[in-house]
Amino acid sequence: MNLEGKVCGVCNKGRLHAFKDEVVEGVYVDAYRCDYGHASYTASVMKKVESLFKAAAETRHVVRVGSSVAVPIPASIVKLFGLKPKERVYVTTQGNRILILPTN
Ligand SMILES: [Zn+2]
Repeated sequence: MNLEGKVCGVCNKGRLHAFKDEVVEGVYVDAYRCDYGHASYTASVMKKVESLFKAAAETRHVVRVGSSVAVPIPASIVKLFGLKPKERVYVTTQGNRILILPTN
């Protein structure tokens, strides 16, 4: 299926354009990005992406913290980045992804 030029299913505004999305480090799949940065995949590519994530990522439950929510970062990632409690991080979005970046 070709999604080129279709309306984005996330924002219902942008038009989709083909690109190669790096879903996990060094692994690229055929994807479509809208004018607002949202990534979309065909059903067959989405199955591949989900299995890649299952193999490469851990899942966590979102927990309530006051009026916000938080996601516990797995210990292996805490160790990898040397994160400490109360350390500040940047939290932002890139299309339909949430990015957490160390500030130092
Ligand atoms: Zn969009």
